[in-house]
Amino acid sequence: MVRASGRIPFCLPWTDGREIRQVTEAVRSGWLTTGPKVAQFEERIRRLVQARHAVALNSCTAALHLSLAAAGVGRGDEVVTSPYTFAATGESILYLGARPVLADIDPRTLNLDPRAAEAALTRRTRAIVPVHIAGLPCDMKMLMGLARRRRIKVIDDAAHALGTWVGGRPIGSISDLTCFSFYATKNLTTGEGGMVTTDDPDLAARVRRLSLHGLSRDAWKRYTRTGSWKYDVMEVGFKYNMTDVAAGLGLAQASKFTSIQARRRSLARRYSALLKESDAFDLPFEPEGDVHAWHLYIVRLRPGVLRIGRDRMIELLKGQGIGTSVHFLPLHLHSYYRRAFGFRRGDFPHTERESARAISLPLYPGLARAAQDRVIGTLLALARRYRK
Ligand SMILES: *Cc1c(COP(=O)(O)O)cnc(C)c1O
Repeated sequence: MVRASGRIPFCLPWTDGREIRQVTEAVRSGWLTTGPKVAQFEERIRRLVQARHAVALNSCTAALHLSLAAAGVGRGDEVVTSPYTFAATGESILYLGARPVLADIDPRTLNLDPRAAEAALTRRTRAIVPVHIAGLPCDMKMLMGLARRRRIKVIDDAAHALGTWVGGRPIGSISDLTCFSFYATKNLTTGEGGMVTTDDPDLAARVRRLSLHGLSRDAWKRYTRTGSWKYDVMEVGFKYNMTDVAAGLGLAQASKFTSIQARRRSLARRYSALLKESDAFDLPFEPEGDVHAWHLYIVRLRPGVLRIGRDRMIELLKGQGIGTSVHFLPLHLHSYYRRAFGFRRGDFPHTERESARAISLPLYPGLARAAQDRVIGTLLALARRYRK
């Protein structure tokens, strides 16, 4: 538990004896790599998101890469996504020789604006990759409708969205392929890890095959009693499988996921209730009827209220022992993207404006209320001190 006195880190995983027991069990079993715990973890996540198939991988980046590959994205194709995202989203498109075509966000939600996505479609577009920023769902009804009309695939970057629901469905059961992350900072962690969920058995089989050198079906069983020593390389694959040690962490985390989410939700609502007393902050939007996974709590400094900018605010918080972060720096403004695609400041004004005033606050189950009170108190005090 992070207490009110001392440093308050931006993030902290929520582990206890359950993780230690699971990992010990994996190590004692002698089965370190992909085995029974991975199969069990896939089943847990598959059920949680109500999908027909789930394939565990060693990252969400791998999940995005293989999902795009399974969806048939290749050299010269275009994939529409949002510039308000992490490097992995763009990178996975580039791995396949395809072009990331960016479309701006809805500034209220920070998520891909379906109208901007539609305007970015061309004859070469093969897929749309919406990103559910902070765990707030994208407009899946509009995006799925658009994709069906244009006969392209939707692959969602759900790195923040395990536990997110929209329109009465969990994220993971809506699009063609959904990619989850179990990175150390994510709501459910395996240290490093990811998963693809889909209802399509062929897409699932292709992702599984590509995750292990393109080996024939069930090749990974070759070391089991029922397996055979024979295998065939059917295509050029990758080495993206999850280990049983990681899956053990995942199983322990999955067993307390409901309480993790409840704790995050309660802290997020508390931030909103207590920070709204200041007009210096724009608070995150929580949709009625849907479920926000609250991976991040992003406040935005309201323009024209304070004498200091976002960067200075982060520094001042750091000086008070409070860790924060920024999600995300616009993809198109990184040097690689400027160089490779000629992107410039001004290309995606909503993304640029919102990113420049965003601060992610500490939000994790181990954050004690008293510690959160200190974060809130410090923010409110700084807002008073630096008013225009
Ligand atoms: C964390 C993250 C990823 C990458 O996840 P890994 O499991 O680290 O590969 C992708 N997209 C977004 C939006 C993320 O936040």
